[in-house]
Amino acid sequence: MGIFEDVLLNAKAVVGTVGKKAGEVVDISKLKLAAADLKSELSQKYQLLGRITFEEMTTGKDYSKNKEEIAGKIRELKEHLESVNDMIAVSKKKIKCGFCGAYNSKGAVFCNNCGEKLVNDSEDQDHMSPDDVIDFTEDNFADDDLL
Ligand SMILES: [Zn+2]
Repeated sequence: MGIFEDVLLNAKAVVGTVGKKAGEVVDISKLKLAAADLKSELSQKYQLLGRITFEEMTTGKDYSKNKEEIAGKIRELKEHLESVNDMIAVSKKKIKCGFCGAYNSKGAVFCNNCGEKLVNDSEDQDHMSPDDVIDFTEDNFADDDLL
């Protein structure tokens, strides 16, 4: 059972590190690092979940308790990743699509992911730089990909 605990502990460490910074002015490179860490943690969780599921199917044993535990961590990590991405977006003056959640550069009229009309803050449109655009739509952990 050691492998489960190792992964869960590791995730807790990552979440804790980022959580402490939430109230401070956060360095964007740290945010990006944190996001990358969270993504790799998520990736591990998904792999683990898959491995356990395979184990269940092969051996007929019931690992539903482990799976529930990991699913809980995945939800936690996803939530945290989203808030880290939100912080990055704010630092980068991005706007988040209210429909699909993708980030678009400030001043964009339509979401480049789903095409939905975006609501721009009218007060803060002066600083828009094409260099600031980061593509957050390449999220490998979209819910649709899981099943
Ligand atoms: Zn969208």
